[in-house]
Amino acid sequence: MPKVVTATYAGVCFGVKRAVDILDKALDTGREEGRPVLMFGPLIHNPRFIESYRDRGVEIVDRSGIRDHAVIVIRSHGITRDEEEYLKTFSDLRIIDTTCPFVQRIHRLVAERSRDGWAIVVLGDAAHAEVEGFVSRIDGPYFVHPPDLSDTAVTALDRFLRAHEKFFAVAQTTSQPDHFRQLIERMGSICRETRCAFEYQNTVCDATFQRQETARELAHAMDAMVVIGGRNSSNTAKLFAIVSAENPRSFWIEAPADLTAADRETLRGVEAIGLTAGASTPDDQITELAEFLEAL
Ligand code: SF4
Repeated sequence: MPKVVTATYAGVCFGVKRAVDILDKALDTGREEGRPVLMFGPLIHNPRFIESYRDRGVEIVDRSGIRDHAVIVIRSHGITRDEEEYLKTFSDLRIIDTTCPFVQRIHRLVAERSRDGWAIVVLGDAAHAEVEGFVSRIDGPYFVHPPDLSDTAVTALDRFLRAHEKFFAVAQTTSQPDHFRQLIERMGSICRETRCAFEYQNTVCDATFQRQETARELAHAMDAMVVIGGRNSSNTAKLFAIVSAENPRSFWIEAPADLTAADRETLRGVEAIGLTAGASTPDDQITELAEFLEAL
């Protein structure tokens, strides 16, 4: 029977816990006021969690599904400025915002700096809702640098930096700290050459940093690693990238049932399995997985 060790920092972060607490209160409000509760896109990137709230009557809607006389809950990674304005067009919509305060801080930072004439560089995934929320609040030029730091991205960054005079950089909260450090070094060296002004705020969330570091250490020490979290979860994807680079016997699942017979056979054959979880994975899903692995 393999020994199972859970990473010191794994699973739900402050922002997700806060969002879930607020969502529970929104359900009470909906009941008390006789309003349907709508979730504006998935509150967190965890399909099993979202399904459990759907079972409790919450409707997951996009823009077209929003209607008056309802409670609308804004997800933890925020919405765009345009979506915010759209919500204000309803006359009787109760808006409950669970946007993580760390994400709200980045909204403020990029809005203020861009208004003051700084060109903004964001490290992150341009298609991720959190980054869409950042760029929607930028009044002026901006560049989204993808997390992979590929040659193409670096060339495009070079071009952007040579076209403006002062820059302010931030990162998507779930970025790998090493990627942000490399970006800052690159920007610093170009700005020394072109004499442009350059400032930044390291906005990688501590919760992300702690989860990534403890996952890396655990992956190094264990015979195999299992990461649990939504396939659509950006921070879980990054955790998996880190542990699989450290330990080739790594698996990413949303539930124990995702482990194939061959995966289970591999895990049964090792002495110690490390377990970690994305910041949107509830504790009960981690416990369920630990018990499953211990019983292999
Ligand atoms: S990972 Fe950080 S920024 Fe994102 S929801 Fe959690 S606490 Fe907030």
